[in-house]
Amino acid sequence: MRVLPSEAGKSDLLKQSLGNALAVSPKSITGFHILKRSIDARGKTVYINLSCLAFVDEPFHDRELLKFEFKDVSRASQEVLVIGAGPAGEVCAGRLGESGLEVAVVESHLIGGECSYYACMPSKALLRPGELLTEVRRIPGVAEAVTGDLDSGAVLRRRDEIIHNLDDSVQVPWLEQRKVAIYRSRARLDGERRVVAGDDTLIARKAVVVATGSSPLIPPIDGLREANPWTNREITTAKELPARLAILGGGVVGVEMAQASVTLGSQVTLVERGDRLIAREEPFAAADVEQSLREKGVDVMLGTSATAVRAEGGEVTLELDKGGPVHADELVVAIGRKLNSDDIGLDTVGLEPGNPIEVDDAMRATGSDWLYAIGDVNGRALLTHMGKYQARIAADVILGYDSGCVPSNATGARSPRVIFTDPQVAAVGYTLDAAQQDGLNVRAVDVPTQGNAGASFYGRDDARGTARLVVDDDRGVIVGATITGPEISEFLQAATIAVVGEVPLDTLFHAVPAFPTRSEVWLYLLEALGIAVPCGGPPRA
Ligand SMILES: Cc1cc2nc3c(=O)[nH]c(=O)nc-3n(C[C@H](O)[C@H](O)[C@H](O)COP(=O)(O)OP(=O)(O)OC[C@H]3O[C@@H](n4cnc5c(N)ncnc54)[C@H](O)[C@@H]3O)c2cc1C
Repeated sequence: MRVLPSEAGKSDLLKQSLGNALAVSPKSITGFHILKRSIDARGKTVYINLSCLAFVDEPFHDRELLKFEFKDVSRASQEVLVIGAGPAGEVCAGRLGESGLEVAVVESHLIGGECSYYACMPSKALLRPGELLTEVRRIPGVAEAVTGDLDSGAVLRRRDEIIHNLDDSVQVPWLEQRKVAIYRSRARLDGERRVVAGDDTLIARKAVVVATGSSPLIPPIDGLREANPWTNREITTAKELPARLAILGGGVVGVEMAQASVTLGSQVTLVERGDRLIAREEPFAAADVEQSLREKGVDVMLGTSATAVRAEGGEVTLELDKGGPVHADELVVAIGRKLNSDDIGLDTVGLEPGNPIEVDDAMRATGSDWLYAIGDVNGRALLTHMGKYQARIAADVILGYDSGCVPSNATGARSPRVIFTDPQVAAVGYTLDAAQQDGLNVRAVDVPTQGNAGASFYGRDDARGTARLVVDDDRGVIVGATITGPEISEFLQAATIAVVGEVPLDTLFHAVPAFPTRSEVWLYLLEALGIAVPCGGPPRA
């Protein structure tokens, strides 16, 4: 079968290419209809149209009028089909729709995905009030004005507003305004450019974009599944926090949820197999977060593995290889993510189900010119902003603006990232250790985040943290930055620009931070690097 351009007036071309198999009047040809007669599994004659499936009892004769329900026809064939409307799928579909392409998105749960309802948004809604209270208590004058504790009921109600009570109707208009058709069902690939969504078989004339995200990983620990543990979904949407909470896993989700829960009144035990928390970040960041969690009352158990789990009489018990057991009212499993690629028909297009969908820098699945994968499901960087970045790249490539994107030092594992604990951890690019492992000739400089005038207004003595730059001495550029401290997440973009833009260190001297802002930390970092006087005179260090 030939694929024809989608303008009107091609009925002759269609007939030419399909001969007697075509039973269609020119009147019914709108857009991109190509029909092919075939027999389905039950022996029924089926006319397959690249725009829809038309089931008929009798074979058609040449030139007989085949009546389509126009609405169905236009929905069933699209230029692009996007599977999954999380942040990645939404942005990609919206950008394509805005540019005039016919796009449909298929979503099995909520438009907005994990991030809007069960991840980024509710977790930050739970963390922010505690962060603010700590901040206020550090500042004389305002500390006296705030006496009581957090009102956890009000915090949870505000969280519900932020996640729109798990109702996605506020997110739908954004897609509708961009003329993106929405299918509400689970979708699977069904061969090249075909997607089965519930009872519909959809055809993508240009591309299929997989954006199915990820789910919590449940490790094979004896009794764990049977104990019905909470995941990020239950902890972020809990109507009430349990009195005693155990958390398995000291990665980003584990530490954020430990902090949110302890500040909202739970007694929290955090069990981590490794010898430190947030293992991918700089050791000083892990130490800062650990110290703060302990100070807040979290029982942090490092180098400890759960060996078995039992749930009895409303209590869950964690057996540990060292110490324990831990008794709790709920257990949250936060040991990592499983990519949603196991049940989406990857086998029908020659890919291995369950694996990350490997993509090139244009987000095209390896070896394909029509299949794209963006967001968590390609395994590159499990972060919303990176999924949205990949969505913009994929959309532009589909639109024909193949700009030959060059990956920078700030993608994949080195993407910009923030952990919203107290202190916050903001990082981009390499950690010192990762850079050395990659064979870079690097050195690190550290200065205190609070060591400048601007920090006075954040509670100079208590608002502690460290700012580190990892510098590639061969190229004279920054390849990594990590900053810890209260409310430093907004610092990250400056570091990201320096890393992605590979701004020469000497040039950074001229990027003068305003006084008295905490951004003056850059001044001290540059001084520590010995490039404080590049316009003449010897460097100081
Ligand atoms: C607790 C927690 C906190 C987080 N906080 C942050 C944060 O602060 N900042 C940050 O950048 N990242 C954060 N993340 C990560 C972030 O949530 C993910 O990286 C992001 O949601 C990935 O977006 P996505 O579009 O790839 O997938 P998802 O958001 O997972 O969306 C995928 C969508 O596809 C749908 N879907 C799946 N399979 C099918 C199918 N077969 N048919 C139809 N639809 C399907 C799903 O229903 C879902 O709506 C956090 C994660 C967790 C767990």
